Amino acid sequence: MEYNRLQLAQDKLKSIYGYDSFRQGQHTIIEQILNGTDTIGIMPTGGGKSLCYQIPALVLPGITLVISPLISLMKDQVDALAELNIPATYLNSTLSVSEERERQNLIEDGFYKLIYVAPERLEQYQFQQLLSRISLSLVAIDEAHCMSQWGHDFRPSYLSISSWLEQLEQNPTVLALTATATTEVCKDLQNFLHIGEHHVISTGFERSNLTFKVKKGLNKKRFIDSYITSKKKESGIIYASTRKEVDQIYQHLSSSGISVAAYHGGMNEKERSRSQEAFIHDEVNIIIATNAFGMGIDKSNVRFVVHYNLPRTIEAYYQEAGRAGRDGEASECVVLFSPQDVRTQAFLIEQSDRNELRQEMEYKKLQQMTAFCHTERCLQQYILNYFGDDSNKTCGKCSNCVQTGEKVNKTREAQMVFSTVKRTRERFGKTIISQILVGSANQKLKQLQLTNVTTYGLLKTWSQKDVAEFIDILMAEEYLVPMGTTYPTIQLTEKAVQVLMGELEVFLTETVTAIQSEEHDVVFEALRELRKQISTESRIPPYMIFSDKTLKEMSRLIPLTIEEFSSVSGVGEQKQEKYGQAFLEILQQFKDKQPMDLEVEPANKGRKTKKGQFLETAKRFHDGDSIEHLAEVLSLSEQTIIKHLLKAQQDGVELSLEQYVKPEDREIILQVANEVGSDYLKPIKEALPEHITYQDIHFTLGK
Ligand code: ADP
Repeated sequence: MEYNRLQLAQDKLKSIYGYDSFRQGQHTIIEQILNGTDTIGIMPTGGGKSLCYQIPALVLPGITLVISPLISLMKDQVDALAELNIPATYLNSTLSVSEERERQNLIEDGFYKLIYVAPERLEQYQFQQLLSRISLSLVAIDEAHCMSQWGHDFRPSYLSISSWLEQLEQNPTVLALTATATTEVCKDLQNFLHIGEHHVISTGFERSNLTFKVKKGLNKKRFIDSYITSKKKESGIIYASTRKEVDQIYQHLSSSGISVAAYHGGMNEKERSRSQEAFIHDEVNIIIATNAFGMGIDKSNVRFVVHYNLPRTIEAYYQEAGRAGRDGEASECVVLFSPQDVRTQAFLIEQSDRNELRQEMEYKKLQQMTAFCHTERCLQQYILNYFGDDSNKTCGKCSNCVQTGEKVNKTREAQMVFSTVKRTRERFGKTIISQILVGSANQKLKQLQLTNVTTYGLLKTWSQKDVAEFIDILMAEEYLVPMGTTYPTIQLTEKAVQVLMGELEVFLTETVTAIQSEEHDVVFEALRELRKQISTESRIPPYMIFSDKTLKEMSRLIPLTIEEFSSVSGVGEQKQEKYGQAFLEILQQFKDKQPMDLEVEPANKGRKTKKGQFLETAKRFHDGDSIEHLAEVLSLSEQTIIKHLLKAQQDGVELSLEQYVKPEDREIILQVANEVGSDYLKPIKEALPEHITYQDIHFTLGK
């Protein structure tokens, strides 16, 4: 019986979701649930928690009740299930009385396999009556860490779940799921739900597709500008800590013509939901938000999360950063550290009405978050250790594992700054100190008699902005500390005193802000475009149609028949039927381009083509190197070299590639292209004499 159910679960995974096998942890959790064993499942974001209850819901005879903290999430989840043809619904306060009645009737008729509710509903008499009339097989508690006061997102309404379960007449299996559980939180869950140690299934917290980066002491706005430019059309979230800051970044980016949305608690509900929708539907690529944004978002193709300000805890950070790459594709998480943010957060804790013990705990968590920004250890490892995983494995790709930039000796310049701070008796902030050092003619300096300070004008070749940035770096490296919150003054630390006395030297890493982008995958772009089109027509978020991961796989495999298409991971029966034809039409267009594009695209070769490399190739070709020679010395295929040359020519480099084709061949190519059309190369090739190569065609047509 149980084996059959497991087999059935496996079949559903393939036929409905289009996946071949369960992931680590999913198999054990699902097996336990089908076995009737109450379970706690701890898996990182994107680990595949939803499937752990959705698949049993389809296999078990009764209904699965999903308790979820956020109303906004319920609609998305039910919509996503509808895309898979799974009968699911939700009951919450957004429904009218008649809608609710209608859904209740359908629930009683056994129409739905899954029902989503918020914990508050469990207390309602009417709902309890409804439950008594149906058969419950499974209760899944999503975001279960909300039950624990030790969690960063404790919700009092979650506390009542355990007593509700105890009073329940039926005895459904219980599954509690979370991505962020420290040891204390996990203990709490075990106690509340009476689940023993060996029924806690944890796959760890590692998100191997995420690359963590900490950037210190840089001009944040400038960093964001170059970062976003490098990210082209990719989706990303920029978190800032205050509404004001969100608005400022939003203004800054939209005035540069970048399509962005803003989201914070100060906006009305309509504005917020418009921003959220635009982001989810890929109408804007970037959303700037406070931490009010994200909990109800399941968007799987978020490629980067930047924290413009320091988050308060590692839990909050990992949850927010973890919104990147839910689909398993490589994604990036960047924290822009400035010491001022630490002070602001500390101030907010101080001002809160929390009791002393709670404040102390929050300080400790803030310190651990700050330490994350200063550690020299692997950042992924730091986070895992924080959550109680004592792994000493390093990720090999975070900003600590991959040190970019060389250390440069900046002792002399640092001494000038420290000396200015000391001579002005630590009474001033960054602006005044920078003005003194660049020798500013500002009246205020004169009034305060600061033009007499001996360091006045010592850095006159620098801009005031550069000095201010340098001070930020010195603060990030803890030579200086800001004091006060509104207009902070700067003070020297013991380290700075040692530098002034010549006992310590200052070596700083040159910050590298520009991040190289990958060459675009043309097939992926075309598939993404189609997905966007379908999304606009059907008002379904693009990621619900197919994930980026699935589109990437399509662009790699270029399936051309419906059978090949259905074998792509993430294509189940329903989606194949609904979208197969449209995607195949696009894929068909790349049948001819396949040999060439497949060669050059990094995702397909596991090799990244550096931006601008094609220009280097073009230059060498222009200087006389042959295609064969370039292919050999650059370790690239000849097709890739040709692709580089065509790209360079399209970008305006004067190469006159057509001159490399015999005039008589050129003539025939143009003639044939004229007859059969120049959209596809294969029909042209087939209509030409055999000696004419694809290279001849490319060079003649310039594409
Ligand atoms: P979580 O709720 O843990 O954040 P999701 O349930 O949203 O994660 O799953 C993340 C992504 O992984 C989704 O796109 C989902 O379809 C995909 N996924 C889940 N299980 C599997 C699997 N066994 N094989 C391939 N992809 C999977």
